[in-house]
Amino acid sequence: MEKDNVCINCYNQIDKVAKILKLGQAELDILTIPKRILTFSYPVKLDAGDTRYFTGYRVQFNDARGPTKGGIRFHPEVNLEEIKTLAFLMTLKCAVVNLPYGGAKGGVMIEPKKFSEAELESVSRGYIRETYNFIGPRIDIPAPDVNTDAKIMAWMLDEYEKLEGKHTPAAITGKPISLLGSKARDYSTSMGGAFVLQEMVESLDMKPKKTTVAVQGFGNVGMNIARILHEWGYKVIAVSDSKSGIYNANGLSIKDVINHKEKTGKLAKFKGAKEISNEALLELKTDVLVPAALEDQIIKKNVNNVKAKLILEMANRPITPEADDVLLDKGIFVMPDILANAGGVVVSYFEWVQNSQNFYWAEQLVLDRLKIYMANAVKELSKVCENFKCDMRASLYVNAVKKILEAERLRGNLK
Ligand code: NAD
Repeated sequence: MEKDNVCINCYNQIDKVAKILKLGQAELDILTIPKRILTFSYPVKLDAGDTRYFTGYRVQFNDARGPTKGGIRFHPEVNLEEIKTLAFLMTLKCAVVNLPYGGAKGGVMIEPKKFSEAELESVSRGYIRETYNFIGPRIDIPAPDVNTDAKIMAWMLDEYEKLEGKHTPAAITGKPISLLGSKARDYSTSMGGAFVLQEMVESLDMKPKKTTVAVQGFGNVGMNIARILHEWGYKVIAVSDSKSGIYNANGLSIKDVINHKEKTGKLAKFKGAKEISNEALLELKTDVLVPAALEDQIIKKNVNNVKAKLILEMANRPITPEADDVLLDKGIFVMPDILANAGGVVVSYFEWVQNSQNFYWAEQLVLDRLKIYMANAVKELSKVCENFKCDMRASLYVNAVKKILEAERLRGNLK
């Protein structure tokens, strides 16, 4: 088989699973070679009248279980290897939460802050024109990712529908509600994580009211999970963003913290809280630590100072593999990103279902169904952990890989 397109990072990531499941070369090839890779560049007329070319990618990694699904990011460091890895992780994530999807990811090399709204709209529309023949509700369904949001999805959908000549809302998810987005989509990642945490807390016989939580990152994911857990009675003792952190051992009123940040633009100087650095937040004595900002936050240098009992990975890859091994040795429970932050793609799936049926659900129904999907995935995970006697990350990978390979086998692509 042609191997030029193999995803090197994916190989490294399934190394452990390959040993556990005794995978052969044909299986490894299926799991590490993307099905389709699009690389393109396209011209955009800038406000000043000159033209600039942008480079874009779309990788559809594996579609054995259904149409591929994954976000589009706008970032100056977007590159093909990264997009392949993220598309591979989306394939696993969709399998872990039992969505009828494969995985994809896309991106444009752009520093969005340097462009006007009109220029960003042209970049978004251009991306859809370049990929139009390869995406669609039954092929590949894009969604927002880093630096892309509901407004960008609205432009993308509009461009798609112009080319299609028909209303096709299920072609893109993460849309504004008034363009047939789903209720609760904007905080679904955090709500999914909170449901997963609730399952873990119950299984460890911990009580929310007596459970302390520290959250790193106060953006969409961090702020919403801090808010939800506070509303559920958890004691959120610390939160931080890129500029500063705040701490109160007796718990912070997250509603007031949100108001304070909205008014002042920062967390600092919140009444009744001490300032705390991001480094110190990660090392706090807390029951639950929620990294919800960036990758590579718990690393070799600080892992031995981590005192949390339980870590919920809401950010993607916040723990490096070597730090992960140390946490395992220390007996700290880590709920990995591919399940902890899967709530967003679950509600994206609900959006696609609602668009396909042209029948729209109340917010509470979306949340009830999200809870069922997350709780089922946690139950499956516990079974795999027990059967294979391995840690949670390896178990999630084992579970996802088994489902993908089974679909490939049934399609006749594997012996
Ligand atoms: P965001 O841009 O809304 O928020 C990021 C937050 O992290 C901001 O508050 C920022 O100030 C803070 N931050 C940046 N650098 C920091 C630092 N060094 N220390 C502490 N805080 C820092 O992004 P988001 O959508 O909330 O995403 C956060 C993470 O969750 C990312 O890893 C993202 O890939 C992951 N994720 C997000 C979603 C989603 O639906 N938004 C879904 C799955 C995974």
